[in-house]
Amino acid sequence: CGIVGIVGNGPVAERLVDALKRLEYRGYDSAGVATLVDGRLDRRRAEGKLVNLEKRLAAEPLAGNIGIAHTRWATHGAPTEGNAHPHFVDGVAVVHNGIIENFSEIRDELTAEGRTFTTETDTEVVAQLLAKYRREGLGRREAMHAMLRRVTGAYALAVLFEDDPSTIMAARSGPPLAIGYGKGEMFLGSDAIALAPFTSEIAYLVDGDWAVIGRDGAFVFDIDGNRVDRPRQISSASA
Ligand code: GLU
Repeated sequence: CGIVGIVGNGPVAERLVDALKRLEYRGYDSAGVATLVDGRLDRRRAEGKLVNLEKRLAAEPLAGNIGIAHTRWATHGAPTEGNAHPHFVDGVAVVHNGIIENFSEIRDELTAEGRTFTTETDTEVVAQLLAKYRREGLGRREAMHAMLRRVTGAYALAVLFEDDPSTIMAARSGPPLAIGYGKGEMFLGSDAIALAPFTSEIAYLVDGDWAVIGRDGAFVFDIDGNRVDRPRQISSASA
């Protein structure tokens, strides 16, 4: 399973899928990609191998210069297209590797507040919480921080907000996640191998970190919201 994100200067869908292919060795049962096109989130998802996602994209191309993508190894909910990431809730797109341990408690709470869940995944609570905090008036960063303080478990996360065409947010607690520094473009990936075609300049997030990634660089924060610096290193993974 794996995660990729690109804050790019040109179309990203094809590059996202190419990067996912480099994560195939980790295993997966379904895959998906989401981009932001003219202020709207759009996505393609498919069960099974990445070739199925590629066929979907060939039939219905996905424009957009910013996007996130995912290979899923289902832990909660069958490996169907409907449970495949990215998950969309009210202008928030989320991909996740790992397990949100307290998802049923959060889902019960949000359901009691009248929210409707559309997937069987633990991951959907992340998108639902972010959407709830935005509805309550929090900014994107505040919403991300509030969500991270609410969930427990293991996660690598990438988030795209429909009202921000220039930023991807990410968080790590468990599964590895690396920021890739390009020239006027920035990348996110589960490992340096995924990002090798784009850049060899990598900074790994540390457990508890979350990041705001724009075209020109990234800000990394700890769980208390303090800025932290994560050293960039030159990866030897080959493209
Ligand atoms: N727990 C999530 C799900 O089942 C993510 C699985 C993964 O790591 O790909 O959808």
